Amino acid sequence: MNHIDPASPLVLDTKEVGRRPGSMKELTRTVGAPADFGTDVLMIAQGQPLELELRLESVMEGVLVTGTVRASATGACVRCLDPIDVPVDQGFQELFVWADRASHHQEVGDTDDEDESYRIENDLIDLEPMLRDAVVTTLPFQPVCREDCPGLCSQCGFRLEDDPEHAHEVIDPRWAALGQLQGLGATATDETKHDQEIQEKRN
Ligand SMILES: [Zn+2]
Ligand SMILES: [Zn+2]
Repeated sequence: MNHIDPASPLVLDTKEVGRRPGSMKELTRTVGAPADFGTDVLMIAQGQPLELELRLESVMEGVLVTGTVRASATGACVRCLDPIDVPVDQGFQELFVWADRASHHQEVGDTDDEDESYRIENDLIDLEPMLRDAVVTTLPFQPVCREDCPGLCSQCGFRLEDDPEHAHEVIDPRWAALGQLQGLGATATDETKHDQEIQEKRN
């Protein structure tokens, strides 16, 4: 188990709220995102601001952390590969359990749920794993620049948005077969034709 690094900007000291149930502390923080905060397609770049609004509430078992995180994830549209920004505005509420309470629960043979709860270690709370769970799992898996993004031509990779009329002349398969029979190298001819088309449309 990794120990909590008190120097991390995402680590809070529970002494600020105290152990008396009912005591409460609200705070706002802007911290740089840790490394690898995102998925393969969308990422909050390392060091980009995570704006946190937090409420810490002391309860019997530990400290209840409620809040929101705002940030901006960047990536590429899965259809047209344009760069995109996706705003993140995610709420969360998680209980961080006092280590002594957590071990007590384990002694009495509690369920696996206990292992998944967040722990308070040496009076410290590490927000990072919780924020990852809250944010990374909610990022869109297939982000698009807009819902009706036409994407790229499946044949030549042309950006369809630049010309909605973009299309390829469909060669009648019988003619293509004939071309092959005549040894004209039908494929090469097709490609030249495509290139010319694209060139004309761009001009
Ligand atoms: Zn797109
Ligand atoms: Zn094309």
